[in-house]
Amino acid sequence: MSPQKKNWKEIPIAGVCWVPSTDYKTGDWRSYKPIWNIEKCIRCMNCHIFCPEGAVTYNEEQNVMVYDYDFCKGCGICANECPAKAIEMVMEGKE
Ligand code: SF4
Ligand code: SF4
Repeated sequence: MSPQKKNWKEIPIAGVCWVPSTDYKTGDWRSYKPIWNIEKCIRCMNCHIFCPEGAVTYNEEQNVMVYDYDFCKGCGICANECPAKAIEMVMEGKE
């Protein structure tokens, strides 16, 4: 039997999701997109540590922060926690 799909208004409080979170590409919720500035970044890793989606990783070989836009929901926490102001939140489609 396939699970019945409910919209967000039909989900009960404390409803349990039967699909793993990795199946939900939360990037499609996003209104604002974090844009990383390689010149300003001091590689402190705050964005990696604070991102609630685990959407920011560090590529050591290339010495760059990598944003996974499939899972970034555009909350802006990374930009807020960035001490170097190296992340700008830009409206989706205007980047
Ligand atoms: S905007 Fe939010 S979800 Fe996206 S990378 Fe920054 S902290 Fe993570
Ligand atoms: S929080 Fe800012 S300075 Fe720190 S690694 Fe992320 S982008 Fe770079």
